[in-house]
Amino acid sequence: MEMRQCAFCGKRIAAHLNQCPFCREMVPQVRLSRSSSAAGRQPIRRGLLYMLLAGVIYYFAAGYAKPLQVPITIQPSVINYLAPLLFLSGLGLTLYGLILKVKS
Ligand SMILES: [Zn+2]
Repeated sequence: MEMRQCAFCGKRIAAHLNQCPFCREMVPQVRLSRSSSAAGRQPIRRGLLYMLLAGVIYYFAAGYAKPLQVPITIQPSVINYLAPLLFLSGLGLTLYGLILKVKS
């Protein structure tokens, strides 16, 4: 039988027990398996954020927000390369997160 140590009195008790038979303290079950639902959530959120950021850059750079002028002049090369790059990296992160989620 699998044994573990009581966190309160230090005596060895059966692993499946919720309560220590010696000191009668509640011993929480230690779960080694991490919750799989949380896996992949972080990259997905970051990826979506990157894509949103790329969209915002495109929106302002292309001049759609005409009354709202961007104070700094953005080089066209920056828009042509940075925004798609940011979008693609965001897309990649989102896909990576989705793959992690499917695998778990
Ligand atoms: Zn105990």
